[in-house]
Order: sequence, then structure tokens, then C-alpha cells
Amino acid sequence: DQNKNWIVIGDEEPGFSLRHFVIPSHYKDDVERVLIPHGMIMDRVEKLAHEIAADTEGPLTVCCILKGGHAFFADLVNRLKKCTNAAGQNLPMQLDFIKVKSYEGDKSSGNVTISYTEQELHDLKGKHLLLVEDIIDTGATMTALLAKLAEYQPASVRVVSLFLKRTPKSVGYIPDYVGVEIPDQFIVGYCLDYNEIFRDLDHVCVISETGKQKYA
Ligand code: 5GP
Repeated sequence: DQNKNWIVIGDEEPGFSLRHFVIPSHYKDDVERVLIPHGMIMDRVEKLAHEIAADTEGPLTVCCILKGGHAFFADLVNRLKKCTNAAGQNLPMQLDFIKVKSYEGDKSSGNVTISYTEQELHDLKGKHLLLVEDIIDTGATMTALLAKLAEYQPASVRVVSLFLKRTPKSVGYIPDYVGVEIPDQFIVGYCLDYNEIFRDLDHVCVISETGKQKYA
């Protein structure tokens, strides 16, 4: 784990009791504990922005993978604006949005749908893409998306994912940049949803049985 370029949360690490944090009252029974406080997420976002900028020569097309990725995308782009590359230059950025869906509730459906028009895909030709994803679980979604995008010949594609789940179901895909590696648990908050709920929670939390049943 020392060799990994990201934070690893071990299987035995419980996270933090809810009582130490401000949790929206409507969610107090629906999450078990805080796994990653919002402040720590922001610190990782800052560091990822520095690393990405240092590795980037010129203009970048930053693609938000909707909807889960949107908070991370907004915070990352804001940090990237303040970063410089190895040559001391700020990075010209274009922003793009791709809607991808593969989950039903808390189960990976294995069925990936990408809502992007042919024209939008053709516009990617020759561009240096940075795909911004919230979480890689099995990796099936990202593998399918990368295969689809490759057909349209971007100049390069890199992927940053805020979270990487350790799971035996992984297809083996590892993104170029990772914020935090987490145990095989279903997390919500910071725009990660469960059936569209919990996007208005800042801390990343583990959902409770009550929460799972209530919003199933
Ligand atoms: P994969 O194809 O890698 O198995 O799944 C990736 C997608 O599943 C992510 O983009 C995300 O939308 C969803 N996902 C996977 N794990 C979680 C999780 O723990 N919490 C939430 N809210 N979504 C997840």
C-alpha cells in the first residue's frame, strides 16, 4: 500500500461516529457513520489537481461523468484553474458533460448506457481528455466508456476517480489518478446517491440498513 499514490482505507477502519459531524437531520437514521469527512475530500481534490496539472502540457477537455461526478468535477475544476503545469503555465480548459448510468439501487446492473450524441462524440477527435468520475467499483462502466470514446480518436484520455472500491468483482481497471481507496461498502454523500437520495450530504458516509430500506 505504501507504493500506492492514494489514501487507502482498510477493511477494519470504521470511520467516524456521526455525533462528531453536522449531518442533515433528514438523514440521521439513514447513514451509519462518516467514512470520509468533507474536509478530507477537499484536501485530496487539491492534491489531485496539482498532480494532474503537473502532468499536463496544454489544453485539456475536462469531462464530467454525470450525475455522481458533479460535485467532484466542480471542485476539481476550481482547483485546476489555480494550478500551473511544469512550464509554469495555467491550463486552458474546456468543460464537457457525459451522462452514464450503470447502477440500479446499490447493484451494478452490468448494463452501461451513455447519453451522448454522435456530434458530441465526433467533437472529441484530437482532444486531450480528462474524464472525471466519482467512483470505480467493478470498473465495468469506465471500461465500456473508454472503449466507446476510443472509437472517436481523442489525442489522449486520462481518468481521475475520487474513489476506488476494493472488490473481488473488479475487472482489474485502475484509473490514472485516485483520491481514496475504500472497502467494499456502498457509500453516499458528496453527490454520490442511492436512488437519487443523499446528493445533499457533504460527508461521504456508509448507508444504514434503515436508509437502504427507506429509499429502496
Ligand atoms: P462500476 O461499473 O465500476 O461497477 O460502477 C461504477 C458506477 O457505479 C459509479 O459511477 C457509480 O455511479 C456507481 N457506484 C459504484 N459504487 C458505488 C457506491 O458505493 N455508492 C454509490 N452511490 N454509487 C456507486
